Amino acid sequence: MGEIILCKLGEVVLKGLNRHSFETRLMSNIRRRTARFGRFRIYSRQSTIYVEPAEDGCDVSGAYGACRQVFGVIAVARAMPCEKTKEAILETACAYLGEAMAQAKSFKVETRRADKSFPMSSIQLSQWVGGHLHDAFPHVAVDVHHPELTVHLEIREDAAYVHTSAESAAGGLPVGMGGVAVSLLSGGIDSPVSSWMMAKRGVQLEMIHFASPPYTSQAAKEKVLQLARELTPWTGRLTVHIIPFTEIQEEIRRHCPEDCFTLIMRRFMMRLADLLAREMHCRALITGECLGQVASQTMDALHVSEDVTSLPVLRPLIGMDKEEIVRLARKIGTFDTSILPYEDCCTVFTPRHPKTHPRVEEIRELEQVLDVDGLCARALAGRELVKVRP
Ligand code: ATP
Ligand code: MG
Repeated sequence: MGEIILCKLGEVVLKGLNRHSFETRLMSNIRRRTARFGRFRIYSRQSTIYVEPAEDGCDVSGAYGACRQVFGVIAVARAMPCEKTKEAILETACAYLGEAMAQAKSFKVETRRADKSFPMSSIQLSQWVGGHLHDAFPHVAVDVHHPELTVHLEIREDAAYVHTSAESAAGGLPVGMGGVAVSLLSGGIDSPVSSWMMAKRGVQLEMIHFASPPYTSQAAKEKVLQLARELTPWTGRLTVHIIPFTEIQEEIRRHCPEDCFTLIMRRFMMRLADLLAREMHCRALITGECLGQVASQTMDALHVSEDVTSLPVLRPLIGMDKEEIVRLARKIGTFDTSILPYEDCCTVFTPRHPKTHPRVEEIRELEQVLDVDGLCARALAGRELVKVRP
């Protein structure tokens, strides 16, 4: 019997009657995300999902890392199964945790017994194994209150398991349980974080990116695809819809007053995201907007941009400070890519004095001179789809 991975369910267990569909979804997400590390048998028992190698040569460490990034899993541990006798359990504990024991200053043994037919009580087994471990590692003190190392024993129907303390994992809800939404992804720091935050709440993402060649470069596009790729260990594979935005921006520049460029441009982004959402059966839009961060993110400006869609616009960063957003970007692994110095379509044709308190009626009026439907239709027709995976 070889090493396995235990995934502890988070909030999933609170979902009452939905629990079954949550678990099923979570197991299929775990199956897909561990597939590149070998074939694993995945099953659930008592708020734990077991990930067990089903062939030789599985990369258990790789799969363990992948499981830590699956939303819906709150903690993970590696464990070694063995025969359900106290001798086999002790022998496994000595071999499997020998190195950890040798380095620890203190330890305790904790037993959970699901199989009540096991001839010793949990306390008896903990004491017996603890006593023998102490004989084998006499320099390691027994400390039942604040041990440096806890040796966990679990007696289940099919086997006994020895494992160390669990490490924290992604938390949240399984991707797919929260519906599907279109996420607006720029090359900045914010939108990868807003995408990640909604994925953490179980939302499956369709990514949309607006590119304005030749004002924005191929390198800028590659950077956005790289950001999407960096999200995939958390979200699973993603599709990025790249929408050509040059004609729209040039038309705005030609026909609209400079102080409203950004506002009108953002309305086009929302319109195109809305059209894509309807086509892909998505139920919401996600942006990385944050109140007051830039001129186009005042309350009035947000009102103007969401005027063109009737879908909910989810803005998980709305009340966060830049510092908090940066901390999250570092944690999820997108920060270093985000700060690469490539241009975004938002940074071409930026007004010198953007309007910060626009009125919706006024902006609608200014757009009258544009062929809004035609521009949107041509932009969508020119899109490029790129699929990215971990
Ligand atoms: P970010 O760091 O995410 O780029 P930002 O602070 O630079 O955000 P803006 O440039 O005003 O803010 O963009 C606000 C939001 O609009 C972004 O978070 C993103 O959701 C969306 N957005 C901006 N530019 C693009 C783009 N080129 N393609 C897709 N979405 C975009
Ligand atoms: Mg930006």
